[in-house]
Amino acid sequence: MITKPQHFDIWELVCPHIYYRDGEAAWRYLNPKQYANLDWMRNKYGPTFINNWHEPEWINSAYVRYIIQHLRDNQPIHVPDQPASPETMFTERGLRCNLCKLVYDKTMAGILYLSAHELGDGDDCDVQGRTADETRALLIRDQASVPFPFRLEQNVPWLHLDCEDNLTGTKYTSF
Ligand SMILES: [Zn+2]
Ligand SMILES: [Zn+2]
Repeated sequence: MITKPQHFDIWELVCPHIYYRDGEAAWRYLNPKQYANLDWMRNKYGPTFINNWHEPEWINSAYVRYIIQHLRDNQPIHVPDQPASPETMFTERGLRCNLCKLVYDKTMAGILYLSAHELGDGDDCDVQGRTADETRALLIRDQASVPFPFRLEQNVPWLHLDCEDNLTGTKYTSF
């Protein structure tokens, strides 16, 4: 049985390739510690956004339509042929698959890529009305109440939160 978070729909946490192939079954790819922490954040800090590709504004974009059509017709998805994803449409802020551009580009460049985004352990988030630095400061302040150990990426303009344990025995670590 899969536990689901209280506040998040699956499409917010996975790319459209995964969503349109597996739907709700995709919960099994995600680390429950991570979405427990995300739920905690949304409860405590208010609206928290990850992917937005399923919003009405983007659901009919050429990028999403290409994926739906190819999966429906059981056709291979050639990553270079996928229409460009508009800059403000977020598809890769949660779990990324091998057809997602960031992962594909690393693969084509011969670079091993095993970030928390490929393992179901991490997300890039925005908390409404707060900068990434402000949210990082809040999470560090509140670390004792966050359900599971977490890591924050430092010195980036986005908030990357993941639940990989640095085996330091502390709740919060940075990288
Ligand atoms: Zn993907
Ligand atoms: Zn990230």
